Amino acid sequence: MEQTLTNIFGMDRRGMEDFFAGLGEKRFRAHQIMKWVYHRHVTDFDEMTDLGKALRAKLKGHAEIVPPKVIFEKPSIDGTHKWLLGMDGANAIEAVFIPDKGRGTLCVSSQVGCGLNCQFCSTATQGFNRNLSVAEIIGQVWVAARHLGNVPHRERKLTNVVMMGMGEPLLNFDNVVTAMSIMRDDLGFGLANKRVTLSTAGLVPMIDRLGEESDVSLAVSLHAPTDELRTELVPLNKKYPIAELMESCVRYVRRKPRSSITFEYTMMKGVNDQPQQARALARLMHAFDNAAQMKDAAKVNLIPFNPFPGTRFERSEELDIRAFQKILLDEGVLTMVRRTRGDDIDAACGQLKGQVVDRTRRQADFKKKLQGEGNPDVAA
Ligand code: SAH
Repeated sequence: MEQTLTNIFGMDRRGMEDFFAGLGEKRFRAHQIMKWVYHRHVTDFDEMTDLGKALRAKLKGHAEIVPPKVIFEKPSIDGTHKWLLGMDGANAIEAVFIPDKGRGTLCVSSQVGCGLNCQFCSTATQGFNRNLSVAEIIGQVWVAARHLGNVPHRERKLTNVVMMGMGEPLLNFDNVVTAMSIMRDDLGFGLANKRVTLSTAGLVPMIDRLGEESDVSLAVSLHAPTDELRTELVPLNKKYPIAELMESCVRYVRRKPRSSITFEYTMMKGVNDQPQQARALARLMHAFDNAAQMKDAAKVNLIPFNPFPGTRFERSEELDIRAFQKILLDEGVLTMVRRTRGDDIDAACGQLKGQVVDRTRRQADFKKKLQGEGNPDVAA
């Protein structure tokens, strides 16, 4: 009978130590392998010269080191780089690297497609197939790090990871938390806790669990200051309305002194970009700071809407975005406007699509709607 091989990318330090113990080997072997894989980007056991020949042969009988397959990659004129990565024979996801002054951020996917159906996000139109495995999540970071010639602790080009690609990371909790532990491990990518950010549409019970089990930065996709509008934009709000969401955020920051939460707010023309909405958002942020008993516990990140074929939304005018930001700043709320990057290669927030073998009806419905509108961008 053929033995199935364990993919080294699927295990964090603890998992690897147990794996080696199970083979009757010393735990420190796990550390040697992690350094070869994550610091030197080696995937062939035979190149691991500090392992004896016998051990290498044994490993080949039990394990493999298989990164995601690069289907294509595309650099943007602004330095952003996008990968389409094959996850299996049929599905592919996208990862995006965004260099900036003094740092480099990788945007990582957690699922093939997404089941949440946020109205302004192109991933939603693709429907959903499945969760990504630990190996498929950490593999995205590995592919980018190898491409960049990243050397942890020395020549560090990849300094930040945001779980803001395709999918809702808190719906794939265990795999995402394990992958994030490899990102932060010295034997992995060695990123500081606060440089790994998980972004959620607001899965309240899972925010609490994340607070108990992990130490990463949290970003919450808010997009509206009232339940009526938020439910329209982010249907998950029906289940976990704003008040409950904010309470879970308070519990999250109170567990960790000096932490803050970034509230993401995608700016859509005439939908959520009006001055009275900025004032309502400021009140919500003040209430949050007060409940957390911490000044600047809340930060706001305004994201100019990125369009995609078939969307009914438009990006807010630059002047309206600035006016909205000014109201928040005048109210004492730390507010940034995220610069749009990589939109020439459809790599900006909310533009990631990949190739999703949809298990829902959403992709077919969306295509039908587009064809009905005579949109030339859609092939059948
Ligand atoms: N599911 C997670 C992570 C993925 S999205 C979440 O909802 O947070 C990363 C961010 O991009 C989210 O804040 C999301 O709401 C935002 N976004 C989605 N579509 C967008 C679009 N078309 N333009 C700008 N931002 C968008």
